[in-house]
Amino acid sequence: MEGIMEKIVSLSKRRGFIYQGSEIYGGLSGTWDYGPLGVTLKENIKNAWRKRFVFGRSDMYEIDSALLMSSEVWKASGHAQGFADPLVECSECKVRFRADQLPAGVASGNKCPNCKKGTLSSPRQFNMMFKTRIGADETAGETYLRPETAQGMFTNFKNIIDTFHPDLPFGLAQIGKAFRNEISPRDFLFRAREFEQMEIEYFIREGEWKEHFENWRKEMLSWCEGIGLPKKSLHEKEVAQENLAHYSKRTIDFEFDYPFGKNELYGLAYRTDFDLANHSNGSGADLRFYDEETKERFIPHVIEPTFGIDRTVLALLSSAYCEDELSGEKRVFLAFTYDMAPVKAAVFPLLKNKPELVKKAKDLFATLKKDIPQIMFDDNGNIGKRYRRQDEIGTPYCITIDFQTLEDDTVTLRNRDSGKQERVAVSALSGSIKK
Ligand code: ATP
Repeated sequence: MEGIMEKIVSLSKRRGFIYQGSEIYGGLSGTWDYGPLGVTLKENIKNAWRKRFVFGRSDMYEIDSALLMSSEVWKASGHAQGFADPLVECSECKVRFRADQLPAGVASGNKCPNCKKGTLSSPRQFNMMFKTRIGADETAGETYLRPETAQGMFTNFKNIIDTFHPDLPFGLAQIGKAFRNEISPRDFLFRAREFEQMEIEYFIREGEWKEHFENWRKEMLSWCEGIGLPKKSLHEKEVAQENLAHYSKRTIDFEFDYPFGKNELYGLAYRTDFDLANHSNGSGADLRFYDEETKERFIPHVIEPTFGIDRTVLALLSSAYCEDELSGEKRVFLAFTYDMAPVKAAVFPLLKNKPELVKKAKDLFATLKKDIPQIMFDDNGNIGKRYRRQDEIGTPYCITIDFQTLEDDTVTLRNRDSGKQERVAVSALSGSIKK
């Protein structure tokens, strides 16, 4: 029987959320292309994030730094030396695994879990950054595609201080792509080689790190609930000292119950002054903050809340995916919150071959679209089919124009989750939908 994960992958493709990258060439592992509904879902996530963490506060500065950065950045940040995973390879089928993610009971030196013939090599460190060259000839400099958006915020710290003169604490926020040459991309969007992050570097006084860490922990949980992730599917994991990233003194992983099991969704890390201090040494720039009151100069410490967008999409799809029976028929629907739903409402004429109904529906669609841009017109197939299509993409409301509409200017408004329909005056529609 098809598992939930397979159903989500197939719905995502069938309805235009997400396609395999380079699909017509057989697919490129670890890459995913977002279709029209996927793009809108991602935009809804980004907009909600900006609204809450950037525009909703007065201590946050959003930037958009270049994906390509000087190779010196990656030396100073420690990524050139330390951003590596342990890799083991099978002597026969040559399949590679992350040594720390082998199935339970399997270790290097054991039989390969894939071909069951070869032996797994001893682990070697494999740097996960994609190398690239800048410039046209052989003397071109090497650098990497960024494996996180964070470094662009550290390298712009001085620019923000010089142009905006913020007081501590303050944060830089950034949304953008990151690239990691993952040894084994898997589980749909969960482990990709190209993905998007929404990150914050929140600069603080060292002595206040515990209090800010706690505030951000709560903020992150509240964000999760706000976008509709059920509390019971979220778990906090204190990362053990020996597993901390090279820059971190404390990290909490926010884990989510995906259909394939519990795994990381977001992270919250106390990065100390590691990055700014190293960039100060590496570049020679003075990255200290000047405290007007105490007349002291010091390098601030930083708390980093990081949110993977693709894992958010996967968590939203997984938690929204529902199957039930409506009027004796099985159906699938995505129970997105109104804010997350890519399409807020769909407008249908009851019958496609009645020009007066089609005209009325098109006029209403055009009027509503001015107020609610994420709206759709559909006259394909019968009403039942249209409902099923809208349910599958998580549209909260369907509006049907029928013969009664022509008489009294009312329509039927159908609710996605309950399937219930009510008669609503056209003049009250926009308000009812947004409510
Ligand atoms: P993992 O342990 O799963 O490899 P990580 O701890 O290395 O992840 P971070 O470096 O903390 O991940 O990255 C920040 C966020 O970016 C993660 O919480 C996740 O949401 C997202 N992310 C990281 N790697 C990937 C990936 N390969 N595909 C999709 N999202 C990712």
